[in-house]
Amino acid sequence: MDNKKKRSPLKSPLLIFLVISVAATVLLNVIMLSMQTSRGQEISYSNFLKMLNEEKIDEVILSREQLTIYEKFDGEIEFKSNDAAALMSILGIDTDSVLENARKSSRNVYYTGYIADSRLLEMLDEKGVQYSTPIQRNNPILDFFLTWILPLGIIYLLFFLLTRSMSKKMGGGGIMGIGQSSAKMYNVENATGITFADVAGQEEAKESLREIVDYLHNPSKYQAIGAKQPKGALLVGPPGTGKTLLAKAVAGEAKVPFFSLSGSEFVEMFVGVGASRVRDLFKQANAKAPCIIFIDEIDAIGKSRDNQISSNDEREQTLNQLLSEMDGFDSSKGLVILAATNRPEVLDKALLRPGRFDRRIIVEKPDLKGREDILKVHIKNVKTDTDINLHEMALATSGAAGADLANMVNEAALRAVRCNRKTVTQEDLMEAVEIIIAGKEKKDRILSEKEKRIVAFHEVGHAIATAVQKHTQPVHKITIVPRTMGSLGYTMQVPEEEEHYLMTKDEIVDQITVFLAGRATEELVFNVKTTGAANDIEHATELARSMITQYGMSDKFGMAGLESIQNKYLDGRSVSNCSEETKTDIDKEIVGLLKNCYEKATDILKKNRGALDEISEFLINKETITGDQFMEIFSRVKEEKNDD
Ligand code: ADP
Ligand code: MG
Ligand code: ZN
Repeated sequence: MDNKKKRSPLKSPLLIFLVISVAATVLLNVIMLSMQTSRGQEISYSNFLKMLNEEKIDEVILSREQLTIYEKFDGEIEFKSNDAAALMSILGIDTDSVLENARKSSRNVYYTGYIADSRLLEMLDEKGVQYSTPIQRNNPILDFFLTWILPLGIIYLLFFLLTRSMSKKMGGGGIMGIGQSSAKMYNVENATGITFADVAGQEEAKESLREIVDYLHNPSKYQAIGAKQPKGALLVGPPGTGKTLLAKAVAGEAKVPFFSLSGSEFVEMFVGVGASRVRDLFKQANAKAPCIIFIDEIDAIGKSRDNQISSNDEREQTLNQLLSEMDGFDSSKGLVILAATNRPEVLDKALLRPGRFDRRIIVEKPDLKGREDILKVHIKNVKTDTDINLHEMALATSGAAGADLANMVNEAALRAVRCNRKTVTQEDLMEAVEIIIAGKEKKDRILSEKEKRIVAFHEVGHAIATAVQKHTQPVHKITIVPRTMGSLGYTMQVPEEEEHYLMTKDEIVDQITVFLAGRATEELVFNVKTTGAANDIEHATELARSMITQYGMSDKFGMAGLESIQNKYLDGRSVSNCSEETKTDIDKEIVGLLKNCYEKATDILKKNRGALDEISEFLINKETITGDQFMEIFSRVKEEKNDD
């Protein structure tokens, strides 16, 4: 940013500061002056002369502006009791001087203005009055410094501290920078250096964006027909799926400057700041067109203006400014606005209407192939063994977003370094998957022997319920090494092929049974209930509730939609759409369903008690068991039983 801009807003606060400090200094001096003169009672000079003639005056102190007059004290002063005097003389205090001081401080005090009266000293001598003048110790430079420079300095210091703390709070220019857009507010990258090749998967999103790139390359082709480029596109999807990355890739592909900023940076302490930032951003971008403006997390400013308990003037103004700028600019210049959000449902409708962010590009979590591709992109950055199998890793990471996968590859590389290896192995990769999904392995959290047994049986219980039922995914691995994210043990299920998008009612019921099998084992084998099942219970209840309220899978309510999902791309909390009575019925229904599943789980475990015991002992000894080892023991025990 040029210097001219920076200086101008400085001017007015500096002026205010100067006025305030001068006023304060003058005030301070006036107060100090009035304090100096306020002792005693004012009399006229002629009165003073009258008192002098009547020999009523004991002492006079002459100073530049005034005479301070002490009247003679004509009373008796003595100690109230003789004891006090005696005590003083014992202590070695001169009682006479004490009395003398008391007498002096009891004199009446008057003052009067100083008149250049040449006879004054003579008259005072004649009447035998003591006179003196206070010594002017302070030199004029010190005087000037104390009364003028010091207060100015103090005020300046206060002002400085105040503005600094304020600017910290506002994260930006401070008081000095109100209304000024500071250069740091947004990043300008002339070349992002990222292309579509860096974004794996997301083919549909890329396809939509390619058109924008093409337009930026070759606007005349579109203008010849009379086609107008959409002004803005909204990238919508869960966190970490590569929205920011895609926006950068568009700029990189089109080889145009990339203005990026985050929605939250607009919203400031002072009303009007955000709006002025929007104005400035568009001005700068217009000068550099063709270019791309990217507003990340636009929901911070674009929140719907209605349905708000407390209105936020600042955000509203900023949003209005954004809307009017979007209407105002000429898209034929090649200015394209991209925005990203993971909460499209909260956005103001005005933002989404034609001519603004009319194009919506969905950036979903990657599927199996997408995950494998993303892993391929990120694995290029690390040195690997020759025999790594990314397909296996992709299978194990269902539900992970691009950012998670990038994180896993990095975690695997870190693990390889910890193990003093030069390359990343498949084992590193699979371990990293578990670290990200289930929390880090923690070696120093030691389970007691009894706890270890319970955890082992609990986990094997899950696994047996999985193995016995038809509609479940096979067990990949069981471990009872505690992990930092809270789970004491861990049963990892991995689909044989791509995860499917539809779940049948049978599958859900089986899955609930698997969740409940952990606690069922605890009760069956040890006759205890532990807190270890809390997570299982949560998941099972959630599934059961969704089955009844969202998937229309209960006999009682049929296809009625009793809940709907908010924030689809975030946590996906559900809101209830039904009456209180129905809610009570739903709860009863859930309890009934869970009870049935629990009984089913107990039943399965009783029938497979042999396998449960044997596999649990194996797990207690080895702490980890693979899916293959599990199935081997499981089928062997089953066969032995059938042979009997
Ligand atoms: P979002 O903006 O959607 O929250 P980001 O674009 O910031 O997510 O993605 C974070 C990181 O995740 C990226 O820097 C990149 O390393 C990785 N990533 C996400 N999606 C992909 C993808 N499709 N291909 C390659 N890397 C990806
Ligand atoms: Mg982002
Ligand atoms: Zn469990």
